[in-house]
Amino acid sequence: MNDAIQVPLSLPLDADGFIRRECPTCEREFKWFSHQEGDPDAQIVEQYFCPLCGVASGTDSWWTPAQLEYMHGVSGPTIDRYVQDSIEEAFKGVKGMTCKPNRSFSFGIETPDALVEPDDMMIAEPPCHPNEPVKVPDETTKAHCLVCGSTFAI
Ligand SMILES: [Zn+2]
Ligand SMILES: [Zn+2]
Repeated sequence: MNDAIQVPLSLPLDADGFIRRECPTCEREFKWFSHQEGDPDAQIVEQYFCPLCGVASGTDSWWTPAQLEYMHGVSGPTIDRYVQDSIEEAFKGVKGMTCKPNRSFSFGIETPDALVEPDDMMIAEPPCHPNEPVKVPDETTKAHCLVCGSTFAI
């Protein structure tokens, strides 16, 4: 039996391949370009700078509340099923014990509807790192580079 719980996870990208992010510092939303796995253009970094406030945070601290809620909702039923299978396995072959699996049992988490990523915001390409474009709210006039944090005008 495979002990690893695999949670199928896919977050939506907009038409240009950008994913929505929320800055943990200023709590404003922007998007960054989601590189394909193995893309030689993808910058390997340990932290990103917020394009809006310029404060850096670790690479996995940029989830929007909707994305966190979605991931929680997707992983819930998977863990649920895993627990149920383990219970069935444990009772299998126990004399005089009949396990009647109750498939409606759940932790009360419903599988959520897929997230939708609207095609909003405008693309800003930092001159220092043009391979890491971002999308920022339309009224933004200057932004910080995701990779090095330097300011540039849009
Ligand atoms: Zn910020
Ligand atoms: Zn840069």
